[in-house]
Amino acid sequence: MQNQQHHVHQKYPDIFKPLDLGFTTIKNRILMGSMHTGLEEAPQGFEKMAAYFALRAKGGVGLIVTGGFSPNLEGCGAEALSKLTSFEEMGQHKIITDAVHKNDGKIALQILHTGRYGFHNKIVSASPIQAPINFFTPRELAEDEVWKQIDDFVNCASLAKDAGYDGVEIMGSEGYFINQFIAKATNHRTDMWGGSYSNRIRLPIEIVKKVRERTGKDFIIIYRLSMVDLVKDGSSWDEVVELAQKIEEAGVSIINTGIGWHEARVPTIAGMVPRAAFTWVTSRLMGKVKVPLITSNRINMPEVAQKILESGQADMVSMARPFLADPLFVQKAQENRSNEINTCIGCNQACLDHIFEGKSCTCLVNPTACRETEFDLTPSSNPKKIAVVGAGPAGLSFSVYAAQKGHQITLFDAAPDIGGLLNIAVKIPGKEEFYETLRYFKTELDILKVKVVLNKRVSVEDLIDKTSLKSLFDEVVIATGVVPRLPNFSGVDNPKVISYSDAINNSNIIGKSVAIVGAGGIGFDVAALLTHEQTLADKIEPQTSQPPDRDNFSNLDREIYLNEWGIDDKYTNRGCLKPDLKEDIKVSHRTVYLLQRKSAKVGAGLGKTTGWIHRSLLKKRGVIMLNGVNYEKFDEQGLHIIRENNPEVLKVDNVVICAGQESLLTLANELQASPLFKESEDLDMRVTDKKIRYHIIGGAYKAGELDAKRAIEQGARLACVI
Ligand code: FAD
Ligand code: NAP
Ligand code: SF4
Repeated sequence: MQNQQHHVHQKYPDIFKPLDLGFTTIKNRILMGSMHTGLEEAPQGFEKMAAYFALRAKGGVGLIVTGGFSPNLEGCGAEALSKLTSFEEMGQHKIITDAVHKNDGKIALQILHTGRYGFHNKIVSASPIQAPINFFTPRELAEDEVWKQIDDFVNCASLAKDAGYDGVEIMGSEGYFINQFIAKATNHRTDMWGGSYSNRIRLPIEIVKKVRERTGKDFIIIYRLSMVDLVKDGSSWDEVVELAQKIEEAGVSIINTGIGWHEARVPTIAGMVPRAAFTWVTSRLMGKVKVPLITSNRINMPEVAQKILESGQADMVSMARPFLADPLFVQKAQENRSNEINTCIGCNQACLDHIFEGKSCTCLVNPTACRETEFDLTPSSNPKKIAVVGAGPAGLSFSVYAAQKGHQITLFDAAPDIGGLLNIAVKIPGKEEFYETLRYFKTELDILKVKVVLNKRVSVEDLIDKTSLKSLFDEVVIATGVVPRLPNFSGVDNPKVISYSDAINNSNIIGKSVAIVGAGGIGFDVAALLTHEQTLADKIEPQTSQPPDRDNFSNLDREIYLNEWGIDDKYTNRGCLKPDLKEDIKVSHRTVYLLQRKSAKVGAGLGKTTGWIHRSLLKKRGVIMLNGVNYEKFDEQGLHIIRENNPEVLKVDNVVICAGQESLLTLANELQASPLFKESEDLDMRVTDKKIRYHIIGGAYKAGELDAKRAIEQGARLACVI
């Protein structure tokens, strides 16, 4: 049997080729990239981090990089953020390194000095120039103070070694401290650290040289090099190559790819960025240095990683968020079970958005991420027979977690396929990754032997045995989701007024001019779809939940993306940006109005780290966004509105309604009226009567501010306690 397993055809052979660094070997080509999770500062955060990293190490990742730790106080991202500067601070790291090593993993600590990006009044930089994304201005370091900063990097690396880390990653990209010395725009110095390019790169070279001297030759030093800055007057390609070569001479073991400064107005990791969209940059550097190169950004499936490695575009692949989504990513790839991978969809909703909202990081598709010690997924001592009605994200999540705990689940849906509203969301350009979520759930339901009953609209009689008149199930979970809200203006029943689902499923029925009523998440998505040149929806059969071919998928829309955001893939210009963005922008073939009643800025409620992308995309495409709108009527002239007391007619062919949702509670109301059932109040399971408990989750529980993140988390939490 063992022999047989040995000869199993490996689908991703290049991922599993060990990487020999001379003094040590990394067992495969996957790096878990650095992510600040908020656990760094949380109570018992180091214990929680140890559990979090240990699980990823156990899952087989070759090398882990921690979130960033500052080498000194002035380099912290905020006053209370994590640093590694002293023996006392070093001690607590040992539990992380021990936990990872016990699971046969390797881990490096990232040294991150934020420079002018720090949110506090002690920040320092090359020059006293405020960052456009900060309200603090940095203090310019004196010449000798720069040496002190270098010493702090060295001290931090040395403490990391004492704590048992296998190496460090020196953060030289994303516009942080080191980048601020390298770029002319942020370095106006005239001393040995400024002026010529060789002066401006002296800082990173000295850091690497001195870290190598202090930590010895058997310590991994990764340098994260900003290969494209995506800001005006960023580095040129020749400068990037020169820096890479000098860093190599100074003694790094590996060079990692950094893409874009934080202040860049180009999306680099969101879901609308095509897969592996920046690998071409790393690939340009291949052969220019001898040390291994790691590529990064929007690589989220083994197929993509394998393709990159086998075509020699990089020596190693970095993935960060995919390890929030699935800690066992590498193990599943190794066992040719990539269909079981819970794929990162690039939404940022529960990871980056949470960090920017001051909450700890988790994952939309995996609510247990960074909360490894919180969810009890051990088998239940009291397995139950449970009916789940509704196979949207809430019902799917509950079913999968509850089945894992040993409950016997029957999952019903009225539709011919699982997925609920996700089947519509996948058709929005940039949201195609939801196909992977559907594929993941489908695979899990199969493996866990959940009984799935489709094309079945459940009513109370379906849950009761006709002979005994007793419930067929021990408990019922209602995950029936939502119905779209219909606004109340005259002409709303005109056939030219269209629901968002019809508009998305068949965008060809929409004319050349359109008004979208409601500017929430769905209104923005509909506007993006109706102004997009080439949509995935045109390329695939409607109503399928099969992910498109993964390789084609990765190429799709790449050109539109590069064009639309002005990325110069020939790298002829500094910063890798096209010189005059406006020339490249094609305003859409449709006139689109995006309307809301509120007087707030349109799109103010969108995600913290992705809202600006949606807003600027629609602006580029000429979408007209109006707030403070009162809807009067729709007739053959168009949509009549009143704004600031002025009546106006928007001469549109169609209106699409995106006015939010209401909970679908038909079944819940039936159960409430039945003497057999009783709604569970909170999650208290102490049943004192003979009634069958039903629980309401997802959109059916609360339609306002509903998103898949809440639906999936609610399903998971209920499954752990039911
Ligand atoms: P639903 O997805 O509505 O599923 C309910 C299911 O119950 C349906 O399949 C329905 O057929 C079934 N059902 C109802 N009644 C019965 C019955 N009596 N018997 C049997 N079956 C029944 N969220 C995000 O977080 N991020 C996004 O980027 C995002 N983008 C979106 C884009 C679009 C265009 C849309 C439409 C939605 C988007 N959402 C997004 C929202 C997300 O899809 C919903 O929040 C989520 O699907 C709600 O999950 P749910 O399980 O509660 O309900
Ligand atoms: P939503 O975000 O609640 O937006 C509803 C919009 O309709 C609002 O702009 C609202 O603005 C308007 N509206 C509400 N009642 C109305 C009425 N009676 N008449 C006219 N307009 C009305 O809901 P959604 O866009 O349907 O999205 C549903 C959920 O899916 C959201 O909560 C969101 O979290 C999730 N989603 C998320 C994303 C994402 O990228 N994170 C994307 C899509 C969807 P006014 O009241 O000001 O008019
Ligand atoms: Fe990926 Fe979204 Fe999860 Fe973040 S929250 S890790 S982007 S799936």
